[in-house]
Amino acid sequence: MGNSGLIPWSEVHSWACVACGNCCVGYRVPLKTDEYIRVANKYGYNVVEFGLGKVYLRLNRGNRCIFQQPSQGRWVCSLQNIKPLACKLFPFRIHSKPVYKRGDTSAFNYYGRTFYVYLDPDCKGIQVGKPSRRFRTQILPEIIQIGMGERYKQKFTTSKYISWTPP
Ligand code: SF4
Ligand code: SF4
Repeated sequence: MGNSGLIPWSEVHSWACVACGNCCVGYRVPLKTDEYIRVANKYGYNVVEFGLGKVYLRLNRGNRCIFQQPSQGRWVCSLQNIKPLACKLFPFRIHSKPVYKRGDTSAFNYYGRTFYVYLDPDCKGIQVGKPSRRFRTQILPEIIQIGMGERYKQKFTTSKYISWTPP
């Protein structure tokens, strides 16, 4: 989606992935070179497709990402720790400038640096309200660290409904 409708982090009480699976349907997930190598080394080249100079995860029937698997009534990602960055960040969007010209309440201070952080309203795991301590001190810092490449593994920003079933 574009930038319209993005929710500034300060209007969000908290967020937790409820493994509804919606964000893994209908999107073509781009892979950076290292991500492509990691995924292809483990699962082979049939799980990716090429287009306009980029590499994407292949979509299955129903336009679902090839790595999305049903598990106990939910949908889980079987890539988990080697998920592409685009997937790790969803539904968060980190910008270097505010998206909204007026009344933008997205500024987040992280060790003296300011980031403008929003959430995509298409995600089912967003609870609107006054930001909770956990959201401010655990979830948002982890997202910034992942976005900056300082952190690889997700602790607070992934679904707790994890399955390791390979595709
Ligand atoms: S990130 Fe949001 S949209 Fe995606 S599976 Fe989790 S709750 Fe659903
Ligand atoms: S790699 Fe995982 S998180 Fe990303 S679109 Fe596929 S199933 Fe969803």
